[in-house]
Amino acid sequence: MQVLQQWQLFAPCSRYGNYVALDPNCLFCKIINGDIPAHIVFRNENVVAFNDIDPQAPTHVLIVPTLHVENAAGLAKMSPTLTADLFVAAGEIAATNGLTGYRTVFNTGAEAGQSVFHAHLHLLGGRGLAWPPG
Ligand code: AMP
Ligand code: ZN
Repeated sequence: MQVLQQWQLFAPCSRYGNYVALDPNCLFCKIINGDIPAHIVFRNENVVAFNDIDPQAPTHVLIVPTLHVENAAGLAKMSPTLTADLFVAAGEIAATNGLTGYRTVFNTGAEAGQSVFHAHLHLLGGRGLAWPPG
């Protein structure tokens, strides 16, 4: 029988077996697990969303899958359904915030500005957003 650590037992997710693997060294896994505080704005079995600590817009929420995967492509390969769950959550959070328009962004790789290597969807809104982004 496999012995699971406390952090592995958190956020059970029926779609992926009876537990979801979290990385004890990952900042966002620690937030999912409650080891590091964050302002959680949305949570279900598959998705956790919390306010960005350094907001770039009046609404700036990070929407993360409750399993550790490095980036958006890896997440999509693992589960298109879970990838879609992030966008469904984005729509619900935007509606809750009264946003009629918003931007969703995945940064992939340090060159594109990714600094936390646990896939996360940025939801930005509440101000005019220029195009193209910088
Ligand atoms: P990225 O640069 O695309 O990897 O996005 C990582 C985001 O995580 C940045 O926008 C940071 O401001 C944000 N961030 C870093 N640490 C925390 C934290 N403890 N709580 C909330 N957001 C954080
Ligand atoms: Zn992680």
